[in-house]
Amino acid sequence: MFKTITLEKWSDFVSALMEKGPLFAPVKGEKSVDFRRIEDPSVVTLDFYNTALSPKFVFFPPSEDLIRYRLVKNAAESVPVPIEAPPSVILGVRPCDAKSFEIMDRHFLGAGVIDPYWKQRRDQTTVIGYAFDPRTPPDPADFYSALGIRAADPAGSDILMIKRDGDLLLKSVTEKGEALLRDLSPAGGSAEDERAFDEILAQGNDLRSRFLEIQDAEIAGKLSAIFEDKAFWEKAAEACIGCGICTFVCPTCYCFDISDETLFNEGARKRFWDACMFTDFTLEASGHNPRPKIFQRYRQKVCHKYAYHVRKYGCISCVGCGRCIRACPVNIDIFSVVENALKW
Ligand code: SF4
Ligand code: SF4
Repeated sequence: MFKTITLEKWSDFVSALMEKGPLFAPVKGEKSVDFRRIEDPSVVTLDFYNTALSPKFVFFPPSEDLIRYRLVKNAAESVPVPIEAPPSVILGVRPCDAKSFEIMDRHFLGAGVIDPYWKQRRDQTTVIGYAFDPRTPPDPADFYSALGIRAADPAGSDILMIKRDGDLLLKSVTEKGEALLRDLSPAGGSAEDERAFDEILAQGNDLRSRFLEIQDAEIAGKLSAIFEDKAFWEKAAEACIGCGICTFVCPTCYCFDISDETLFNEGARKRFWDACMFTDFTLEASGHNPRPKIFQRYRQKVCHKYAYHVRKYGCISCVGCGRCIRACPVNIDIFSVVENALKW
């Protein structure tokens, strides 16, 4: 299904989406644009390159109560917290981020144990992708095309949206997207608009964010071969301060920890984001830490994404969104590390 919406009707379109259930969309903040739960359609913006944080929090919140409990004499009473997963929409997801959902599915749904929190929210959420403008050069940190993702790639979206001067062109990609688009006004779009949509999509196929094409098997093999090469990894992580920002902004980082927080005999078992760049991520109860040095933790991060993930799930766990590069306080560039590894 294909539809054209004029930008004048944008606010009506957002309002119609809000009637379907919780809507998450880009909102301009003080320093960046980020996805928020929308209460007022006028705050949604399409005027951004990409958000500072990824939209993964819709499926995988930074912190979440799994069980609430009360400690009573010699025992505990506990109740599981019901999973909140109403039918929802995420609007304005860039193609690299839409692709990240598919990569995360492999871990949360395909590893032998299905994560019910991720699954229920994924099942209930419709993703409206938002193509990069192929006439605008990519941000220098981006390298999504090096990983085979294109500027107007529909993969991972249920509907793909393309902004063209005074209007928005929307085309369904999945049945879920088709069902949502069918329900929204206006009735359709012209054949000419649909041709324009396909042309912009083709232009997006030609846009390159960086010029190397990274091959999954090649980089996985190379990283395994240089795993013990301390000189390479110390050089790669020389400036790293272990702040963990690169993992928190990343759409494909999924490590979490679970711990109990108790106050006055009541509390909650929580799941929250964790990061392999933190000193105590691998700290064992004995006091032993198998990755005490920063270069070992940075090596883990790169090898997990570019080698272990390829071996376990058949794909690289990075979409080249460039967030970790833009956010790193010491300008470490994971693409350059991977490029240098291939040449090492
Ligand atoms: S590793 Fe960096 S470039 Fe790759 S998906 Fe994560 S934040 Fe984006
Ligand atoms: S953001 Fe940069 S400095 Fe911070 S942990 Fe990541 S690579 Fe290291």
